[in-house]
Parts: sequence; structure tokens; C-alpha cells
Amino acid sequence: MIKFSGSSAFGGVAAGRLFIFQKNENQVERRHIEDVEQEMARFEQGRKLALQQLQELYEKALKDVGEANAMIFEVHQMMLEDLDYLESIHYMIKEQQINAEYAVAQTSDNFAEMFASMDDAYMQGRAADVRDISERLLGILGNTQSSTEVLKEPVVIAAEDLAPSETVQFEKDKLLAIVTRQGSANSHTAILARTMDIPAVIQADMVLDPEYDGKYVIVDGFTGEIYVDPDEETRKRMEEKMAECMAEKELLQEQKGKEDVTLDGKPLKLYANIGNPSDVANVLKNDARGIGLFRSEFLYLESSDFPTEEDQFKAYKAVAENMAGKKVIIRTLDIGADKTVDYFNLDKEENPAMGYRAIRICLKQPEIFKTQLRALYRASNYGQIAIMFPMITSVEEVRKIKEIVEEVKQELTELSVPFKEVELGVMIETPAAVMVSDELAEEVDFFSIGTNDLTQYTLAVDRQNAKLGDFYNPHHRAVLRMIEMVVKNAHAAGIWAGICGELGADLSLTETFLKMGVDELSVSPSMVLRVRKIVRETCIEQ
Ligand code: PEP
Ligand code: MG
Repeated sequence: MIKFSGSSAFGGVAAGRLFIFQKNENQVERRHIEDVEQEMARFEQGRKLALQQLQELYEKALKDVGEANAMIFEVHQMMLEDLDYLESIHYMIKEQQINAEYAVAQTSDNFAEMFASMDDAYMQGRAADVRDISERLLGILGNTQSSTEVLKEPVVIAAEDLAPSETVQFEKDKLLAIVTRQGSANSHTAILARTMDIPAVIQADMVLDPEYDGKYVIVDGFTGEIYVDPDEETRKRMEEKMAECMAEKELLQEQKGKEDVTLDGKPLKLYANIGNPSDVANVLKNDARGIGLFRSEFLYLESSDFPTEEDQFKAYKAVAENMAGKKVIIRTLDIGADKTVDYFNLDKEENPAMGYRAIRICLKQPEIFKTQLRALYRASNYGQIAIMFPMITSVEEVRKIKEIVEEVKQELTELSVPFKEVELGVMIETPAAVMVSDELAEEVDFFSIGTNDLTQYTLAVDRQNAKLGDFYNPHHRAVLRMIEMVVKNAHAAGIWAGICGELGADLSLTETFLKMGVDELSVSPSMVLRVRKIVRETCIEQ
């Protein structure tokens, strides 16, 4: 047995096969090519080899597991002959003069998305196949296996670090736990682990030796310990701990269906945070009364180009419908800082957290903003959507946003596109927004305090910096006083104020927040029932 340790970013115990994620493995570079004919020939050679491999696999499977199971390799061969698929790759190589790998990866994404969006379950299943054959091609063309091919079964993933755009690429049900050598508990990768309810260990002293790849490991997200090839005694101890976790979760089920109200009758809106429509299942499972933060930028991170108005409309509509009339607060895109995507073509910045990001991009590039607003307003018809804006620093920004919102509504009205009026709110996550929260409160319907960024900007501590974990203190009196001030200013203007940053799920502060008059807490789905339990045991008059 080999033991490694790191810091806990989220609790829980998980066991399974280890998958070492090497950064460049699945990144497909886009290269300009001069000799188109040569690139076409290279692609064709790769395709022939892929066909040959699939034929060999077919014959082997036929012998080992029978015809029914072998069929899939025949289907894959047919897909590699598919004219639409090939035409798309040929077109990109010839017309855009790009390398074969990039053309394959791009075509794979486009086709997989197209299949996935079809109504027919059989066709939806083809999305995985098109990715599978494309990954085979990429492997042959010079890229090693990509993550999705490796993740045939659920794994514990270990990496130097994981960007949110990388984490979202993994299928959620294939991740048992996340271990990174770098990383911070406040990063979006850690937040994603909480949303998925899987253990996460950061700053682990784990050696990413390929020799460990595929080995059986146990991750203790509470203590930050990782055991490779655990001995009998450790296995037994960890199994007991897993059973305890299960029992605690079982016990929490009692909280389902109960009201979110203190012993002395103060009600709380207890909502959940999501990053993707598929997270709604977890929200419902944990009985949250609404969604307090839908980080819409994850739709952008999962996409290889700007998501269209239609794509976004479908995603927002699906969430609104699945929440069946419960409130869904969707935050407009907060791209930038650690959440970057190539197609935004953002410059490399010295201080990205304080740079061109979030609402600043939206105000400077209103065409991107308007596409999202149109999708949001169109989806408003299908449930109870509210919209909030990130990284606000001034009243002027909010007035400008409202002007753009009015333009979008006007355009939709002219086109006779139906929509509903929605609540508009702002995130309070900069000290500037706190200081002018009395004025901001006159402009909007609600506040949602983003304590992750508010802590970073108030304490001047980069939330991503692994070395600054000890300095990143959201319990700092400066932060708590700011929260209190924001709530007071909100109430003075007759609007409500909630917390959607990670501090909202800090059970040691639930009582403090209730006493401050915080109206809403929006937390990871897995924390909802835990917070409910504390709320119901608290008496704020004491
Ligand atoms: C926050 O800053 O607290 C917040 C909720 O937004 P994000 O973590 O996505 O920056
Ligand atoms: Mg933020």
C-alpha cells in the first residue's frame, strides 16, 4: 500500500480504479497546414488503419462474446464510412486548411451534439459512438487516447490540476473522486465536485506515476488521504467510514419534504447551485426549493463554439420545466478568470480575476449578451426564471444592463415572441457593490452575495492560489460585516438578499446568517438537507 495526502476540498469516501489524467493527452491543437493534399492522404491512411483495427476487434469479439456484442464494431466501421461525417472532415481540412486531428475533433463534437439532441433514444446513443470512432482516429493520427475513451468505467481521477473546462468534459457518472496536486478549495473544479457530490482532494503529494494508472485506490475526502493498493486493514476501515457516510445520508432523508423554517418561525429560501441542466436531478433528489445560481457559463465551457440562442433556450427551458414552477435564478455568463474557452479569444492577462470577464465582456460585446438574454426571455415562458448579473461594481453598469434588457424585450415583442416579466438581480461579489448596495437595491429585485469572489477581492487573496489557502478566510469579520450591510440595505429598499457563494453552505454560520436576516441560501445540492436540518434546529430570537 502507498499512502498520499492532501487537503480536503469536499468530504466523502470513494474507491475504484485510478485514472491519471495527463493534461495534453486530450487537447487537440488547431494547426494551419500548407499541403492540403498531404493532410488528406494522412487522414485517409489513419481512417484505413482504424477500419482495420475495428475489423480485428469485430472478429475477436465474435469469438469471445458472440455476434450480438460484436455488432458494435461493425456499426463503428459503418460510421467510419459515413459520407456526412467524412465530408465534414474533408471540408474542414480543404477549406479551412486545418490539421486532420482538429477536423476530426470538431466534427466529432458537432455530430455527437446533433445525435444527442435528437428525440429518438437510438439516435441519442450514436453520440457516444461517433465520439468513440473519432477518438480512435485521433489516437492513430498522433494524439494519445482521450479522457472519454479511457473513462469506460467510473474512476478516481488524479491530475496535476484540472481547469473547469476540463472537468466538465468528463461524464459525471464516470467520476468517483477528484485528486489534484495543485488546486484550491475555492476553485470551480472544487465547486463542481461539491455539485456532483464526490470527494475531492487538492494539493495532494501524490506522484502521478503511470505505474499507478488503473490501480485500485481509496480516497478519503474528509482527511485528504489517498491509498493506492490499500491493505486489508485500511480497506476495512474505509469501508466502515463509507457505511457511516451512507448512514448519515440516509438519516438526512428525514429532512425531505420539511419546511425551511427556524424553531421560532423565520422562513428561509433554501435553493441549490447548478452548472448544467443535468444537475437538476440532484437538486430534486435533495429537495431544494429552487435554483439560486445556475452558472450559465458552463454551457459555454462545454461547447467548442459560442452556444447558439437555440441551444441556450433549450437548456434554460429544460431547467425551468424540470423545476416545475419553482424559482430558477440563472446567472448570465461569468466567463474569464479560471473559466476560459478558446473561442472567446481572450488575451492573456496579468490579473485575469480582475480583468476582462463576466459582465464586462457582456457590456463590451453586447451581441454575445443579447443572444443569451433572448434565450433567457424565451425560456421565461416555461417556468419561473429570474436573471442575475455577475461582477457588478456600479449603478451605471446596472442601468446599462437594464437598457440592453429592454432592447431585447422590445425586439422579442416586435417579433411576437412570447415571454414573461422576470425578476432581475445582481450578484454582490465586489467590495464596490457592497458599498453602493443601498443604491443598487433601488435598481433591482434581489441581491445574491457571491462570497467566493467577495472574499477574494476584500482580502486581496487570489482564490485560485494554492499557496494562499491559509489567508483565504471567508469568516474574516470584514466579509461578515459586508454581508450584514448588504442584507440591511436590501431590506431597507424592500428587496430580498441571499448568499450563493460556498459560504452559504458553511453550517457553522447558518445561525449567524439567519440572525443577520439573510433571506436565501443557495448551496450545492448535496448540502441542502444538511442546511435544512440546522435551520430547523435554530432559534434566532435567543
Ligand atoms: C461567488 O463568487 O461567490 C460565486 C457564487 O460565483 P463564482 O464562484 O462562480 O465566481
Ligand atoms: Mg463569483
